[in-house]
Amino acid sequence: FLDLAFIAIISLCSAEVQAQKESVQTSIEKTLAAMTLEEKVGQMAQITLDVIAEGGNRYASSEPLRLNKKELEKALLKYHVGSILNTTNNRARTPEVWNKIIAEIQDIAINKSRMKIPVIYGIDAIHGATYSVGATMFPQQIALAATFNPQHAFETARVTAYETRACGIAWNFSPVLDIGADQRFSRLFENFGEDPYLSSVMGEQMVKGYEGGNIADPHHVASCIKHFLGYSVPRSGKDRTPAYIPYHQLLEYHVPPFRKAIDAGAKTVMINSGLINDIPVHSDKAVVTGLLQQKLGFSGLIVSDWNDIENLMRRDHVAANMKEAIALAVNAGIDMSMIPYQYEEFCDNLVALVKEGKVKQERIDDAVRKIVKLKYELNLFQQPITYIKDYPDYGSAKFARLSYNAAAEAITLLKNEKQILPLKKGAKILVTGPNANSMRPINGGWSYSWQGEKTDEFAKDYNTFFEAIANEFGTQHVQYIPGVSYSKEIEYYKQYKDQFNLIANAVRSSDVVIVCIGENSYTEKPGDLSDLSLSDLQVELVKEVAKGGKPVILILNEGRPRVISKIEHLADVIIQTYLPGNYGGDALADILSGKINPSGKLPYTYPGAPSSLINYYHKPSEAQEKMEGAYNYQSTPESQYPFGFGLSYTTFKYDNLTVDKNVFSINDEINITVDVSNIGKNAGKEVVMLFSSDMVASLTPDIKRLRRFEKIELDKGEKKTVHFKIKAAELGFIGTDGLLKLEPGEFNLQIEKLSRKIRLK
Ligand code: BGC
Repeated sequence: FLDLAFIAIISLCSAEVQAQKESVQTSIEKTLAAMTLEEKVGQMAQITLDVIAEGGNRYASSEPLRLNKKELEKALLKYHVGSILNTTNNRARTPEVWNKIIAEIQDIAINKSRMKIPVIYGIDAIHGATYSVGATMFPQQIALAATFNPQHAFETARVTAYETRACGIAWNFSPVLDIGADQRFSRLFENFGEDPYLSSVMGEQMVKGYEGGNIADPHHVASCIKHFLGYSVPRSGKDRTPAYIPYHQLLEYHVPPFRKAIDAGAKTVMINSGLINDIPVHSDKAVVTGLLQQKLGFSGLIVSDWNDIENLMRRDHVAANMKEAIALAVNAGIDMSMIPYQYEEFCDNLVALVKEGKVKQERIDDAVRKIVKLKYELNLFQQPITYIKDYPDYGSAKFARLSYNAAAEAITLLKNEKQILPLKKGAKILVTGPNANSMRPINGGWSYSWQGEKTDEFAKDYNTFFEAIANEFGTQHVQYIPGVSYSKEIEYYKQYKDQFNLIANAVRSSDVVIVCIGENSYTEKPGDLSDLSLSDLQVELVKEVAKGGKPVILILNEGRPRVISKIEHLADVIIQTYLPGNYGGDALADILSGKINPSGKLPYTYPGAPSSLINYYHKPSEAQEKMEGAYNYQSTPESQYPFGFGLSYTTFKYDNLTVDKNVFSINDEINITVDVSNIGKNAGKEVVMLFSSDMVASLTPDIKRLRRFEKIELDKGEKKTVHFKIKAAELGFIGTDGLLKLEPGEFNLQIEKLSRKIRLK
């Protein structure tokens, strides 16, 4: 009886859900039927807040922020603009200011317009609600990847969604699912590293954290997976320059994270700003419609990147004028144009294109249907704005703890000679380097402002590396001397000569020197590099410090792995902190003192030289190494440290790698187990990684590929058996015809230094 009652309730619920769905569908169609062409086209326009802010276009300077009523009404009532993005004057705002801005916008969109369609507001809250004062700042994606713990990706996204919604904003341009396979790229830190599988697992969790399975719930936001597709590997290594990617490699490496996120329900996609194989992606119907919608089954909203429809004309020369550019992009399948300024031109041209038959009415209806549907799904018609007063956990200590935990699991110990770490209390510590006493590099780009240049102003209440080390080891034991800046200018060098004298003296009276080096914050074009080596002055600083003969601890704080081959040998300890966010200083200090046992692992191959850029899954000939070497869990000759590398204060021992059979057919599941024991002196966390190698294939196979991983925690003396299950079909690869190949033959499965051969029938 109980079972039956339960089934009855379930079917009642699903009937209700079905009815709700139908009524939303009907409302969407009714809305669409009532709209004029101009109203529809307006929905497809997304403008920047600068356009409607007091002070006029382009970086309005008024403070406190006020909206320009006339411009606002023109955009929303005359042109029916459907979406607004970004902050204005390139700076963070308090939740109260955000609430006020959005309430004003929605008031006009809903109460004064004919169709009463709410605006959807979008923002780059990429590692926390980054444009919201007092919000919880998390480690950037590259650091989350280094935790190899998907829970951190989920929690980060969940809290970010909550705090973004507290500001009244319902759409987040995150996560980035591009593969971080080129270490030079200025946005490497926005990725989950070089591995497609790791990126897929992390990306899926982030989408789930943002959307919570129900974006009508006002604690969640719509995610935007970006930048579809192949954005992160331009040939020059510089932002928005051409990439050349064979189609099978696009499918093999770049598609999987997007596929996973789409299957997880991601609501929106942003398109790659650049060119692949000489075709600007914004005009590439084969990618935007063929691959993304037809092949991957994505049915949500597709938004352009910043100004990229205009770029088809101005930058890429595939359109002679704006009108042609708009036709190309909309016909390729783009639903919304992040214009962000000249929206009148977009709207007028698109209306004309429809009237001339160059863009079909159905294409417009299709785009607008998706936009209106998203607004319904977000419940914006009923609840166009959410208010900070309903979000008591905004910026709370419990959220801070989550950020600290993620940072503590991300920070990666790369070298620890002579057992220098953990550092003994009471030691006299000198802290130096350009990254030692600023919150800006700790957070990186997209923090409080686009380039992160306003971080020190907004994040002054958090601990820099120096401050956190002083708190942990006692201010009386810790001194700080800046050392050098990031600049290579010779004037700086002269200026810093004095600093070098100061440092030489301070080293003499210290027991250990902590040198914090790396990069300042940046993103996109301003972060382009012509030399991946660490800047000369920082190299000089390390050499100067090393002369003193005291133990040297290098703290790397960088968005991408800057080459350190000239100074690596001078350091006894090397720690990669990535961009660990506002609690990164505290987490680092606790690792130095041994309160935290480090467990982060590199999510990329750390290059050994500026021209030695390979990924761990490179082809055998690329690194010119012997095949046996390839299966060794060692650094290749090209790399400083391999993918997945990271030390601990304890020792893990791997035994008994078992596979349930020797021969498999394609529909089989492969069951693998391995025993991991903690044979060292401390409790610790370990990432167990399963790799596979195809021994012979019709396309030269990758050296190895990560297939599964699991982060486990082991007490001193404890042993655990880890089980992995993979489908034999996962061992396949994409052929040059774009189809999955499953070729019979021998495969090697590896966990740490253990391996087992299997055969596929
Ligand atoms: C970036 C996107 C970002 C957008 C809006 C663009 O320049 O490429 O990642 O979402 O700006 O700020």
